[in-house]
Order: sequence, then C-alpha cells, then structure tokens
Amino acid sequence: MERFSKSLRPCLNSLKPYMAGKGYIEISRLYGVPPEKIVKLGSNENPYGPSPRVLSALQGILPERYPEPEELMEGLAGYTRHPEEMIVIGSGMDGVMDTLTRLFLEKGDRTLIYTPTFSYYEILTTLCGATPLFVTRGPRFEISTDIPKDVKMVFICTPNNPTGNLTREEDVKKILESTEAIVFLDEAYVEFADRSLLGLVKKYDNLVVGRTMSKAFGLAGLRLGYAVAPEWIAEQYKRAAPPFFGVTCASVAAGVAVLCDLDYMHRSVDKILMERERLHKETGSHPSQANFLYLETAEPSNTVTEKFQQKGIIIRDCRSFRGAGDHHIRVSVGTPAENDLFLAAYREICA
Ligand code: PMP
Repeated sequence: MERFSKSLRPCLNSLKPYMAGKGYIEISRLYGVPPEKIVKLGSNENPYGPSPRVLSALQGILPERYPEPEELMEGLAGYTRHPEEMIVIGSGMDGVMDTLTRLFLEKGDRTLIYTPTFSYYEILTTLCGATPLFVTRGPRFEISTDIPKDVKMVFICTPNNPTGNLTREEDVKKILESTEAIVFLDEAYVEFADRSLLGLVKKYDNLVVGRTMSKAFGLAGLRLGYAVAPEWIAEQYKRAAPPFFGVTCASVAAGVAVLCDLDYMHRSVDKILMERERLHKETGSHPSQANFLYLETAEPSNTVTEKFQQKGIIIRDCRSFRGAGDHHIRVSVGTPAENDLFLAAYREICA
C-alpha cells in the first residue's frame, strides 16, 4: 500500500472530508431509534418534498438512454428570466462549483472565503491546488469588501450557511467593481430570502450566481443544480464539465416537473417561513433569511447535538464549520409537528 500511496496528491493532507448532516440510518443504528421516529433537521432539506408532479414524471423516464437536458434548460431560462446561453447545470450546485473552480483555479492561485460558511468552497480550492484565504465575518456576519490583489475567486454565500444572513447588495457591488477576481455568489437558499442578486449577472462580467433544486424545490436526493453566468463563462463551462454535465434522466425529468409547478414550491416556502419565525422567536436564534436557524449554545455544541440525537432529533453541530467555534448549532425548519418536537427537546436540553 505504501508503495502506491506515495502517488496521492499532497494537497489531500490539508483536507478534512466534507461533513454532511447525519442521516436516518446512521442515527437509527447509533441510538436505536426507529427511522420513522427520527426528525431530520440537520441538512436543510425541504420537509414537504417536491411537487407531486415529480413522481409521475419519474415514471416516464427511459433509464437506458442518456439524459437530454433541453427542456430543463428552457424551464430554467423561464424561471430565472435569463437566456439559456447564460445557464449552466450540474450534479447539484456542488457539481456546478466543481466544474467552475476547475475553469479558473490552479496551483499557486488564491481564493477568498468568508468564515464561517459552506465548507465545500475550501475543499474545491484545495483540490485545484490553490490556497484559500479565510476572512472572518463581522459581528453580524457581514463581509469585508477589501479583496487582496492576487485573489482569483471570491465565494460569497447569501443567505449564508450556517449563519442565515444576507450579504448587502452594496458590498457585493463594491467587491465586483474593485477586483479582477471571479465572484461566485451562492444563492442555494435564496427562495427563502427577501431578495436575490441574480439581476447583477447581466451587469458584471465577473459574477456567477449558483442555485440549486435541493432546497426550496425539494429535490436534494436527485442532485440537480445550476448557475447563471455571463455568456463567456457559460461557454467555457462546457469544456470542463463532465459528459452530460453530471445530470441524470431522473434529475432532468424531476427538474422540468418542479419548474412547471412553481405554486407548489411557493406554498411550501410560505409554510417554512411561518415556522421559521416561530422557531426564531421561541429560541432567540440569530435572524435568518434561509430555511434554518443558527443558535448559540451554553454547553459545547457537540454535547448539545448528541443530546438531541439521543432523542432522535438530528441537528447540525457547527464545529465542522471553520470559524464557527464550538458553541453553535444549526437547525433546519421542519414541519410544525417536527418543530414542536425540536422545541420540546430544546427547552429540556438548552434551558
Ligand atoms: N451551497 C450551499 C450554501 C449549501 O448549503 C449547499 C447544500 N448543502 C450547496 C451549495 C450544495 O447544494 P446541492 O449540491 O445539493 O445543490
């Protein structure tokens, strides 16, 4: 083994594997809670799932054929109000970001990452041989607009995971205008927010806005994401993307179906926003523009998370987010019944 492990890239040494929220099977095996009793509030999924049209669309797919994304591209162009020439797709927004970073980053490059935030930006940067520069967010999780000269890509998550806040439009514009870097604006949670900055893509040649079908549209399990990019980037994207862009017949069919039923998505978002306000008031969490809340804990967050999980309630210990410290948890907004169970446990554990 040692003879061959020398071939591994040295950059892997500085990487920790991506820590996903825990799943039903893992928690059930660890704590002996039956899966159907588990409340999963650790991965910012949509508890209402996708439009029912998805199930019938999936019945019509041809698994023996490669996917054909034309209708999906039309649907995304309609939803985003941007031409298809400005839209790129991938296997989740993760897949889109993977391809984009491979377009721009190589050994010796630097990226700017505002911590705490989504950890995949760091992983992708490192895998390209580039080096992340971490800048800590301010007291209200705002970002600095000073971009060092040699930074090649800037990652801004808005609403930010895990803190839930939006980045101000003036700050994003100031960054776009003051740097040669490519700015990736991650709007994974934007359907839960008061506003989007998607309209800026037409004005700035260095802005890409990433989106996903995993959150508001309820398709996390099918892995479908997209980005709106200036045409010159969308054109190059095809060079670095995997065959069929990493999408599948199933993800394409489901994507088309949810985009034909925006009412369903808006209704589920409305329900989540009502519950978000209730949870925010009852827990005193930081304000949130996403489908999750960021909470400070008196006890260390791993102890708190463990206590919830023993009761079958999965939440996220934020120690895995660089810069979040060890006294924060993140809780996804569930259905009213799930949130009641969370709140009852919260009163017991965090009182
Ligand atoms: N960006 C952020 C901020 C996220 O939280 C997530 C999902 N955890 C993603 C991107 C990736 O989403 P997906 O690959 O499911 O589209």
